Amino acid sequence: MGFSDRQEELARVHAEILRCDACGLCRSAAHHVPGEGPADAAIMFVGEAPGAEEDRQGRPFVGASGALLIGLLALAGLDRKEVFITSVIKCRPPGNREPTGVELAACRAHLDAQVAVIRPKVVCTLGRIAAQALLGRPLSISKEHGRSRWIGEVLYMPLYHPAAALHQPRLRATLEADMVRLGEILATELGE
Ligand code: URA
Repeated sequence: MGFSDRQEELARVHAEILRCDACGLCRSAAHHVPGEGPADAAIMFVGEAPGAEEDRQGRPFVGASGALLIGLLALAGLDRKEVFITSVIKCRPPGNREPTGVELAACRAHLDAQVAVIRPKVVCTLGRIAAQALLGRPLSISKEHGRSRWIGEVLYMPLYHPAAALHQPRLRATLEADMVRLGEILATELGE
């Protein structure tokens, strides 16, 4: 599939997300937040769910967590414009509560459709919820963060969520170290 085919296909997937009412979260949200980035991005970042600012703008990671994430990307030698950024849940849960299993299951097809079009080489999960969803098992993010692993052709890198690092300075240092490590991994695995 060429770049313009992928762009078209991704636009179709995003149009479907904007129409979705599968779990009902969109009824209390202002916007669906499909995600953004190049349709052929080699690296994808997947968070948990939109927060208040993301819901207001309809764009992922544009609030306080987003500002931190952009700074962290630089530590891995990355720029926001070259990666695809999304979340496992596309609509804001009221009061930023954790998404339920039903909501995660209902939204899953959207993330899978994005991954199928973009075909990233590296998927970085942000926080426990995204890591569990993509690695397919319950896990402790304090144990798994920074430990990359191949699943098929894709390299997965679980990371702490930037929101956690905003509240706990100790986690911020850990997340920074994991991002530097991610940069090293990208250099070896992708020659980036
Ligand atoms: N947290 C997420 O997981 N996703 C966003 O888009 C914003 C904050």
